[in-house]
Amino acid sequence: MPNTLFDALFAPLADRDDAFLILPDGRQITGHAFLAMVAQQAHALRAAGLGTGDRIAVQIAKSPEALAVYGAAVALGAVFLPLNTANTADEVDYFLGNATPVVFLCDGTKEAALAPVAARHGATVLTLNADGSGSLTDHAAGQPQTIAPVDRGPEDLAAFLYTSGTTGRSKGAMLTHRNLLSNAEVLRDLWRFTAEDVLLHALPIFHTHGLFVASNLVLLTGGKMIFLPGFDQEAVIRLLPQATSMMGVPTFYTRLLDDPRFTRDLVGHFRLFISGSAPLLAETHRDFEARTGHRILERYGMTETNMNTSNPYEGERRAGTVGLPLPGVELRVMADGLEVPRGEVGTLEVRGPNVFKGYWQMPEKTREELREDGWFITGDLGVQGEDGYVTIVGRAKDLVISGGFNIYPKEVELLLDEVPGVLESAVIGLPHPDFGEAVFAVLVPQKGAVLDVETVLADIRDRLARFKQPKAAVVVEALPRNTMGKVQKNLLRDQYSGWFT
Ligand code: ATP
Ligand code: MG
Repeated sequence: MPNTLFDALFAPLADRDDAFLILPDGRQITGHAFLAMVAQQAHALRAAGLGTGDRIAVQIAKSPEALAVYGAAVALGAVFLPLNTANTADEVDYFLGNATPVVFLCDGTKEAALAPVAARHGATVLTLNADGSGSLTDHAAGQPQTIAPVDRGPEDLAAFLYTSGTTGRSKGAMLTHRNLLSNAEVLRDLWRFTAEDVLLHALPIFHTHGLFVASNLVLLTGGKMIFLPGFDQEAVIRLLPQATSMMGVPTFYTRLLDDPRFTRDLVGHFRLFISGSAPLLAETHRDFEARTGHRILERYGMTETNMNTSNPYEGERRAGTVGLPLPGVELRVMADGLEVPRGEVGTLEVRGPNVFKGYWQMPEKTREELREDGWFITGDLGVQGEDGYVTIVGRAKDLVISGGFNIYPKEVELLLDEVPGVLESAVIGLPHPDFGEAVFAVLVPQKGAVLDVETVLADIRDRLARFKQPKAAVVVEALPRNTMGKVQKNLLRDQYSGWFT
């Protein structure tokens, strides 16, 4: 029976006797063997009660078996719901209560702590450990190695993916088969992925970047993945020569640039480096090109929409921008309910086959952010130039309003980052008795540099209108980041909330 995603992504593996996954220890899993694992897991999950339309939540380490669970869920017509492995029992409690899955799959080491949580929400617990063992694998052994997928069409749900929680509590974005497949098809054509590609995959697979952007694309195009459990610098340096392409968050690239073994020779054969999930500094883009000769291709997306814009494959990959709207994706820049002229800052809205169906069990939030005519209010502020290139200037929630004036943190951060000795910075608004909010800077020094706050602030004074200038700053060792490399400004706002009051 037709199953939109299964037919496009997983069924073709049946004919593949070549490696689909290459593991850091050299082990290879053929397409055929991977599909057999998918089928066996699907039979085991069905026996555990997982039916069409049911939800399966997983909090498991990245492994081939973990990726297979995604395929098994798709085959059964279930809704796949991966959770960040860093979530605590309390957080898992929230997610299971919110999503009420039929099956909850966790690591064996966490079973004792999480079984009562799952029981409270009526979910059956199975385990899958980092090494691929666990009760799911036990139940899967001996099951048939093929499965007839359940009938599912483009508008059926395939996944709930929780947002990263950078600006508040994570929201479950409901994604359909069409949302996911349409985006993978567009990216294949745009980024020229083929069966010849070997993608170095070091991203987590509980997030849209590693799960959908990376894995769906390689599944769709018949390529291979070097599948690392995480970003292990040694393994990445060792395996880059075997790969042709890589997707990463900006921190992957800054860490590689910090490594003298990361040379032009090491990646001379490479086809493509892609970056996203957080802003790539223009400086990193330039340093990367100077070191390797490759221009990183930066793109912009989010849990609710998959990818929205991308720099071109051929044509200018412009540092500091996220490129052009993807084919089939409409983008507009709005302020006060009206589209702003090119070159002016506003909230980015997108519409297209990639845009999700709404937040699970959050009708109000859905109404606030997803317009009835299909436009999704991203919450990101940006500018679109005359030539169509989009630059993200920050999140609407991070906008600072001081004395009635809008201040875009990125503008201030870019200047601070240029001050000698400053590695990076985060500019936030803090409560202030006179101004409502005051601009505050958190500075990270370059290795070995000692920063004097007054000197840094004096350095940018001439180049910035007075109301935009930070009223105070602190120096810290590192900015708080989540697993996707996103700076958690809400934590900084909390930490320094009393500074001016
Ligand atoms: P939450 O919505 O729960 O607060 P989140 O928005 O960080 O968390 P994700 O869906 O993982 O959750 O991230 C999407 C966001 O990541 C985008 O809205 C945007 O702010 C940021 N982002 C993604 N790619 C880029 C990029 N290339 N440059 C700048 N920001 C990016
Ligand atoms: Mg978001």
